[in-house]
Amino acid sequence: MRGKVVFGIVWVSLVAAPLAAAAQAPAKAESVLALVGGRLIDGYGGPPLENSVIVVRGNRIEAVGRQGEVAVPPEARVISTEGHTVLPGLMDMHVHLMIVGHADYDHWFRTYRDRWREVIMPIAARELLLAGVTTVRDVGAPLEDILAVRERIARGEIPGPRVIASGPFLQKKAPPLEAEFCWEVHGAEDARAKTKRLIDAGVDMIKVIDQDQMTLEELKAIVETAHAAGLHVTAHAHRNEEIRQGVRAGVDSIEHTGLATQPGYPDDVLAMVRERNATLYWCPTIEGLYLYPYTVDEFPERLDDPRLKSDLPPAIYEDVRRSLEHPERMAYFQLVRRRVPTLAQKFQQMRSTGVTLITGTDSGIPMNFHFDSTWRELDTFVRLGVSPMDAIRAATFWPAKLLKRDDLGTVAPGKLADIIVVDGDPLRSMEALRHVVHVIKDGVVYK
Ligand SMILES: [Zn+2]
Repeated sequence: MRGKVVFGIVWVSLVAAPLAAAAQAPAKAESVLALVGGRLIDGYGGPPLENSVIVVRGNRIEAVGRQGEVAVPPEARVISTEGHTVLPGLMDMHVHLMIVGHADYDHWFRTYRDRWREVIMPIAARELLLAGVTTVRDVGAPLEDILAVRERIARGEIPGPRVIASGPFLQKKAPPLEAEFCWEVHGAEDARAKTKRLIDAGVDMIKVIDQDQMTLEELKAIVETAHAAGLHVTAHAHRNEEIRQGVRAGVDSIEHTGLATQPGYPDDVLAMVRERNATLYWCPTIEGLYLYPYTVDEFPERLDDPRLKSDLPPAIYEDVRRSLEHPERMAYFQLVRRRVPTLAQKFQQMRSTGVTLITGTDSGIPMNFHFDSTWRELDTFVRLGVSPMDAIRAATFWPAKLLKRDDLGTVAPGKLADIIVVDGDPLRSMEALRHVVHVIKDGVVYK
């Protein structure tokens, strides 16, 4: 049944494609752009550059400097950035485009599965882009759907961030409702074959979860196969043994922050991470955990953000909003609340290992809306003691390093033109990143 439905969607979209293309031409880079006047934080971590000029030709940054030192080409379309802060486009390394904040996963998977590719993922992608996020890692989605959406975005047919896709994650045992985005592995040969299948299909990275339930041979088979193809591997890491097993097998990044029942990370786990700190990245997705008590106890009004209503089709909006009516009754929320008192301690512990901090939000999980996720993670980093500049670099410079994308994450000549302009000073308050004035991705002005 499901296969038939999916096939139906493929057929419809193929037929509809030429019409859609005619109605809406793909987004194209302006030939020459100049962003003039604002304060530039370029991603390298040095002092900001006041009265900056950035010249973009096609999809590349051609020149960066101060007003008076860098000439604005006469043919350029000039965008004034006066009074604003200019930064590299944000990179969110942990998002889920197939979910948009609904509280009940099983209901979501049953009810909306046939609308992810055509309706849900494009909405999520657009929301992230307009929030200043120009690159994401999507870490878990049905293979054909996420690759199709990635390609439509890359061709400029729909607005969205550049998608680095894992497709389905690899896991020892998949719940039946999740089988399409969670592939089981049974033995090292099978692990190698499934990884190969994902790579051959065109994924950009591999994600493993519950790897403490895999044998080390299975996990090593996955990591070796991915690395041989030049792909990085990221590992879900709630449990201590997940981290141990991931580090042993040589994964490149670990996701999330500790488990509910544990007050902190044990010394041996921290020692293992410290040992690998030159090459290991950590994506805490920590704000998603603070978000529940914040929303319920402090600011329930955020559930009435007008973007939630305006971005979703009315019936889906009603369903999402209704699901969040009594968050305190959700089992998931109960569990999260128990984790909160231990989070700051775990964050400091993991930071003390010297592991490289990157930004990821779990955007799309209950109450964590794509239009409002990424800036919050940076805000929480700062609240937990990270300097504002380091927080910004965790969402720009360092993700680009993890992805081995030297053309992303910084504003400098030769880089791809992924640039955002925000109203305010993020070095004073990360809330400035909520106020996105302009978004440029790959030389295209989206906002
Ligand atoms: Zn996630």
